Amino acid sequence: MLLHTINSSKSFPDEPTRQQKRDAKELMALLSRIYPCKECAEHFKEVLKANPVQAGSQAEFSQWLCYVHNVVNRSLGKTIFPCQRVNARWGKLDCPDRACDLEGSNDIMPNR
Ligand SMILES: Cc1cc2nc3c(=O)[nH]c(=O)nc-3n(C[C@H](O)[C@H](O)[C@H](O)COP(=O)(O)OP(=O)(O)OC[C@H]3O[C@@H](n4cnc5c(N)ncnc54)[C@H](O)[C@@H]3O)c2cc1C
Repeated sequence: MLLHTINSSKSFPDEPTRQQKRDAKELMALLSRIYPCKECAEHFKEVLKANPVQAGSQAEFSQWLCYVHNVVNRSLGKTIFPCQRVNARWGKLDCPDRACDLEGSNDIMPNR
């Protein structure tokens, strides 16, 4: 969910800078090394080798991530997600009427 959120239309730009494209690739490479499930990390390294990160635009990056998530889904026997619906699923993560604003106390441990 974090990864789909990062490359949703609200976050990753349509025209990323070279640095942003590099960041996207590095994030995936890092994940393939530090993902806590070792088997998953090894599998992801292979997936990345076969499907190098495509982050030339927000649309390209989100379609690429959808594709590789489906590679994982397939290997787990899960349902394949229709990638044409990726924006419907992940694109509208804004909060109308400030519904996501923090509310309540400034005390970070209010129940102490
Ligand atoms: C880098 C990486 C490698 C992984 N490798 C493995 C592995 O080898 N073996 C393993 O057991 N687990 C692996 N996982 C974890 C696996 O992908 C799931 O996150 C985990 O099994 C929990 O699944 P879930 O059903 O909660 O939801 P997820 O599969 O995480 O899906 C969450 C939500 O995302 C949406 N979604 C599903 N597929 C897509 C898609 N293709 N595109 C866009 N949205 C989609 C759906 O709405 C779904 O409800 C890996 C995760 C990562 C990040």
